[in-house]
Amino acid sequence: MNVQDGMPLARLTTIGTGGPAAAFAKPTTLAELEQALVWAAERDLPVATVGLGSNLLGADEGVEGLVLRLAGALASVRVDGDVLVAGGGATNAVCLHHARAAGLGGFEFACAIPGTAGGGVRMNAGAYGSDWSEVLVRARVVSAEGDGWLTPAELGLSYRHSELGPGQVVAAVEYRLMPRPPDEIKNAVADLIARRKATQPTNKRTFGSVFKNPDHELGAGRMLEACGLKGHPIGGAMISPMHANFIENAGGATTADALALMAEARRRAREQFGVELEHEVQLLGPIAVT
Ligand SMILES: Cc1cc2nc3c(=O)[nH]c(=O)nc-3n(C[C@H](O)[C@H](O)[C@H](O)COP(=O)(O)OP(=O)(O)OC[C@H]3O[C@@H](n4cnc5c(N)ncnc54)[C@H](O)[C@@H]3O)c2cc1C
Repeated sequence: MNVQDGMPLARLTTIGTGGPAAAFAKPTTLAELEQALVWAAERDLPVATVGLGSNLLGADEGVEGLVLRLAGALASVRVDGDVLVAGGGATNAVCLHHARAAGLGGFEFACAIPGTAGGGVRMNAGAYGSDWSEVLVRARVVSAEGDGWLTPAELGLSYRHSELGPGQVVAAVEYRLMPRPPDEIKNAVADLIARRKATQPTNKRTFGSVFKNPDHELGAGRMLEACGLKGHPIGGAMISPMHANFIENAGGATTADALALMAEARRRAREQFGVELEHEVQLLGPIAVT
């Protein structure tokens, strides 16, 4: 297994910020993944897996430990009857492509979620009223402690949440889909993507929704818009002028800039609405949301 030093997290995340990962590897088979986990355990290093880094904010000072990105067989996709079997590193776009080619529907909701199967499980990602828990049959979870297939209930999937810890790697998934004509899938996806482009900054560098929607009549975006935060900048980061629950890298942003914007957003939501916003974006390295 080839372990690289100093891979910048900025290259592994869609927002494009973050310092170096002390160690970085791209396992392509289950055996290589297990080897990587043993390598880290022998050195007492923490392990983090990244998918497309589309919901990830990495520390500017970097992260100690081993960062993994699954590739090769661990990112492959095949269809078996009405089950789509994908490696944890398979992108949602590729999964959707295979599902459509096989005439299998049910995964269309993921068309605008720019992540991987593993990231989808970890986040119980979702859109348009559906989420991973509805299509996932089981996920293969590998860690230094062992290897096993877990159901959505065993993974503890709920709104943008799972019980998976940092050292637990989703190596494969099985999605149960249902027959649907490819043309119908294509049209449904085009419709969902058009809706998305009309409301969210899909052509900017972001990490998706910053905060989970609170238990309130206003979603996080509307609440932060009401706080007057649309377009609010700190350093190179800016609350999106299009949707206030997104932070854009407007040029030269750092993770510290994004965290400062998040702190400001939380402060205003607390003062104006008495609501404690909880962040959806995942943090990598020695950073916290205040
Ligand atoms: C433009 C845009 C739109 C988005 N829209 C949506 C949306 O509609 N709905 C939604 O839910 N999200 C959305 N997101 C957020 C993001 O795409 C999802 O959370 C996605 O599922 C993250 O997948 P990822 O592979 O990129 O994970 P990453 O961002 O790389 O990682 C996220 C978390 O998952 C963990 N992880 C990643 N891979 C694995 C693995 N193989 N095993 C174990 N843990 C893993 C990471 O350690 C981290 O904790 C959006 C993001 C962007 C940039």
